[in-house]
Amino acid sequence: MTDTVIPIFDLRDHRYRSMTPSIPEKLVEPSGLVADTRARPLHDLRISVTDRCNFRCVYCMPKEVFDKDYTFLPHSELLSFEEIERTARLFVSLGVEKIRLTGGEPLLRKNIEKLVEMLARIDTVSGKPLDLTLTTNASLLARKAQSLRDAGLRRVSVSLDAIDDVTFRRMNDVDFAVADVLHGIETAQAVGLAPIKVNMVVKRGTNDAEIVPMARHFRGSGIIVRYIEFMDVGASNHWQMDEVLPSAEVVRRIDEVFPLEAVQANYAGETAERWRYRDGGGEIGVISSVTHAFCGDCSRIRLSTEGRLYLCLFATEGYDLRALLRGDYSDLQVANAIAQVWQGRTDNYSEQRSNPAVRQARAERKIEMSYIGG
Ligand code: SAM
Ligand code: SF4
Ligand code: SF4
Repeated sequence: MTDTVIPIFDLRDHRYRSMTPSIPEKLVEPSGLVADTRARPLHDLRISVTDRCNFRCVYCMPKEVFDKDYTFLPHSELLSFEEIERTARLFVSLGVEKIRLTGGEPLLRKNIEKLVEMLARIDTVSGKPLDLTLTTNASLLARKAQSLRDAGLRRVSVSLDAIDDVTFRRMNDVDFAVADVLHGIETAQAVGLAPIKVNMVVKRGTNDAEIVPMARHFRGSGIIVRYIEFMDVGASNHWQMDEVLPSAEVVRRIDEVFPLEAVQANYAGETAERWRYRDGGGEIGVISSVTHAFCGDCSRIRLSTEGRLYLCLFATEGYDLRALLRGDYSDLQVANAIAQVWQGRTDNYSEQRSNPAVRQARAERKIEMSYIGG
């Protein structure tokens, strides 16, 4: 008997599907407010500056997929800093107030400080400075914290999945030490990047024993640990529901040792649910993307390294903004094209995740986290 071989989605060979946004016939001056089909405003832009990374976190860039033969984007495909800045200004004119640089590992992008400097000069529609931040694995943070701060970066989020060195090395899968991440965090604190948030992705059975030790380590330091449920992003991380540890359980475990009380959200659409230590030791956050969908308030749009727009972290298709940026179009035309894309947005994957048919339909076509950023 011969086996039928069903080819699986080939990550090495694919380019995600995209369409070029159309320019509306009637152009309107951006008013700083654009809403999607569920009245969700456009508030938060995440910009991926590279799809490369020096870590191979098991939940994000598993080694067996992102190996030496994996094809990353060639340099010619990347948006230039000037193109990113122009895009950022157009988004700000549509109401964006917060920009996060991400990746891959954003500090690997050459001269990233230059881009930070360009973005830090942008004010929001209401005349306030942009809330500009960056998410990093901290491998280069000790070296770059001062120059990033000098360039105008205000704060950073650092990813750290365990305080136990053996567990952390196993999760980053490149034998990177906890001590080096902590050194990066201390340097960032010393140069005044604040507040610092530490993101820990919790995988049941892999690092959930680290929940309380992480809380213990960072309590009283002014650093906010945010526990993130392991998500089914991309198509390569072998996500299974039974490896998701619900945030409610994270809160229960910490509360047992260090009693907690709930804190009000800073603003509508904040992804993290906030809790504080009753004894004044600071606060933590939980991001329950799987067990408690927050699509209703989702005001985030993502720009990939080569200039595609994605309306959802779990999207399977993007919009080729680069084609407009490199075409002969005015700012007004491009801003209107972006507004039209946002106005047509219906995305709500996390609300539908429990439906197996929805999961199945996207399973092999979802964009990777390292491509689009967190
Ligand atoms: N390399 C940088 C870093 O790790 O901070 C920035 C990019 S990384 C894709 C952004 C965030 O996504 C990180 O905090 C990471 O832990 C998180 N992340 C990646 N894959 C995830 C997954 N499957 N579920 C939940 N969070 C994930
Ligand atoms: Fe790299 Fe960040 Fe993904 Fe880890 S989570 S592999 S550090 S991009
Ligand atoms: Fe936003 Fe998509 Fe996440 Fe829902 S699933 S919160 S729409 S990114």
